[in-house]
Amino acid sequence: MTLIGGQTDFGGATLNMAFEVGRSEALTKSAVNFTHSAAAANTCAKCAHFLAAQSTCQIVEGPIAPTDGCSVWVARG
Ligand code: SF4
Repeated sequence: MTLIGGQTDFGGATLNMAFEVGRSEALTKSAVNFTHSAAAANTCAKCAHFLAAQSTCQIVEGPIAPTDGCSVWVARG
């Protein structure tokens, strides 16, 4: 999956709109067993939902660090 690369093709306004939509539907961290000490193989940095440029996640609320993780982790394709 090339989520990060794809974002560079969007203009700022489009990107901000997508970000707000994502936030309005975001899961809470407690609902997904969010952790700041994820196993190395299952960190947000290696998850398909991670938005590195914004330090956020497509489906989980709030700021997200590359070393975080949660129960809905999906391997980056
Ligand atoms: S592991 Fe969870 S919080 Fe981290 S990017 Fe993936 S879905 Fe989002």
